Amino acid sequence: MPEVVLAVDIGGTKTAAALADRDDVLLATLVAPSRAAESPDAVVETVRGLAERLLDAEDVASGMRTTLAGVGIGTAGVVDATTGVIVSSTDTFANWPGTRVAERVRAALADRLADGAPVAVQNDVDAHAAGEFAHGAAAGASSALVVAVGTGIGSGVIIDGRPVRGAHHVGGELAHVPIRGAEHLGCPCGRAGHLEAIGGGIGLHQHYLSLGGDRTVTDTRGVAGAAASGDAVAAQAIADSAAAVGRTLAGAAALIDPERIVITGGVPQIGDAWWQPMLSAYRAEAIDALQNTPILPGALGDDAPLRGAAASAWRK
Ligand SMILES: [Zn+2]
Repeated sequence: MPEVVLAVDIGGTKTAAALADRDDVLLATLVAPSRAAESPDAVVETVRGLAERLLDAEDVASGMRTTLAGVGIGTAGVVDATTGVIVSSTDTFANWPGTRVAERVRAALADRLADGAPVAVQNDVDAHAAGEFAHGAAAGASSALVVAVGTGIGSGVIIDGRPVRGAHHVGGELAHVPIRGAEHLGCPCGRAGHLEAIGGGIGLHQHYLSLGGDRTVTDTRGVAGAAASGDAVAAQAIADSAAAVGRTLAGAAALIDPERIVITGGVPQIGDAWWQPMLSAYRAEAIDALQNTPILPGALGDDAPLRGAAASAWRK
């Protein structure tokens, strides 16, 4: 039987789990509701349930009892990756801060873990970055900045092959960088004028409304649709939001000089109306040495966090 690890991606609504081989290739994937609003017990039980279903199927296929060489977990929230403990999270999760995820998953899967098998836990965006770094758009690079532009903004930095965690477990996090042109918008952190307040999907929609946009348009998808139908305010909102991301990337590049920048998430899927102003803003701000830093779309889609989680399990 091949050696396998369990890779897990715990989100606010869904948890995905997969068995992965030595090259972090996902062999089988299952998804279930996270039950984050119930309790940490419910989330751990979701992980255990998915793992058992995957392992039972593998047992049948291989004709022997499958053991795990390790577990890699990416989870929403700020994570102390050294201890596998949740530092803080949004209130989508009930009582998630303080949860000893590594310890609890180890206990829940004790009879399936090989001797000395590691349980590696990190933030989900860091897992996503690890996946793109190992196998996706940043494969082969020695450093990368990976930014997910979805409803909010998440990012991870890898330098010389190692993730930047920081002294307070939020290293590489661009969401709360102060950004010109976002002063009128509130950020989920309670302050105003941060990148996420204009650059994330919710921020883009809020900015559209602040410019006098159509109030019957209720989300980012609606703003994109309005722009495609000739709504000039919607086009402006998208351009401003994308430019805020591009300016922040230029600032981040000046600090860390990544070999590649990788952009993932739903908002960039708006297309040229987003990418063109984002790239223009980057080029307007980046110093000469950073003008040609490749800025690439992510290559792995939804598999990125699972493949990154698998990589962390093998490496730990
Ligand atoms: Zn903020």
